[in-house]
Amino acid sequence: LLLAYEPAKRLARVRISLETGIVGVRMMFQLADRPLTLAEKPGAKPLQPGPGEIRFDNVSFAYPESPPVFEGFNLTLAAGKMTALVGPSGSGKSTILNLIMRMYDPQSGKVEFDGQDISFATLDSLRQKIAYVSQDTFLFAGTIMHNIRLGRESATDDEVIAAAKAANAHDFISAMAKGYDTEVGENGSLLSGGQRQRISIARAMLRNAEILLLDEATSALDAESEALFRDALQQLTIGRTTIVIAHRLSTVHQADTIVVLENGKVQESGPHKTLLKQGGLYQKLYEYQLMP
Ligand code: ADP
Ligand code: MG
Repeated sequence: LLLAYEPAKRLARVRISLETGIVGVRMMFQLADRPLTLAEKPGAKPLQPGPGEIRFDNVSFAYPESPPVFEGFNLTLAAGKMTALVGPSGSGKSTILNLIMRMYDPQSGKVEFDGQDISFATLDSLRQKIAYVSQDTFLFAGTIMHNIRLGRESATDDEVIAAAKAANAHDFISAMAKGYDTEVGENGSLLSGGQRQRISIARAMLRNAEILLLDEATSALDAESEALFRDALQQLTIGRTTIVIAHRLSTVHQADTIVVLENGKVQESGPHKTLLKQGGLYQKLYEYQLMP
């Protein structure tokens, strides 16, 4: 049944993209906040609900035909808390998110959600748990209503509006002549960067996933957009296991725990104040405002 169901859903997404004149498989999946993952294993089981703890247990991983990124890597990401990943470029931050989304399986060891090895989970149950907000916000040519509703296609108009309010997007939407029926243009080009980001947060709000993965934008927003975005993000992260690749110091401050990576190893971890006192890599990155 699952085998028959998956392709049907993929077809449905292809149809959406054809209707709106946008092609590109990657964009399509990003848009639905459903990243591409590996195939489901025979006998895969749905993930059971739990508090939302993520654990890397003795994980070794290398990309195809590349040197290892992680060897015997251990890391526990606390349920319902916000963890910021920081560290030099190439230290393994994006790879952690890739492994959580199961875009790759480790060569040995496992990634667990509440004690369940995700490599044996059904794809549907895995995708349901995760919302991914990346620095590139993927909007379709179509209305604002349509773009937010991609978070959960069964959502009512009222639910879409509630999500937009929580994402600090309702005011700018209402101020437009056509409101929620405003066309966003190809890739959302008729909106500002800050507006696009808040729409993508509204979409993630609607999705109501237990785990939130965020690859933070490096590009600077204007001060007002930045404040509105930060406030919306705070709303979104409450009670969810949130992992953010943090470039902004303001995000790093907001995190419950900061994990400092270097060459695929956890160099330090803890709250901001503790790490700063330690005088290690974090203190250096922080002092020179180097959050690559
Ligand atoms: P960060 O996000 O901290 O900058 P990454 O997780 O992207 O680091 O990269 C970790 C290591 O894996 C780097 O050495 C990088 O060059 C390598 N890497 C990342 N993506 C790929 C890939 N798709 N194929 C091969 N090597 C990769
Ligand atoms: Mg990266």
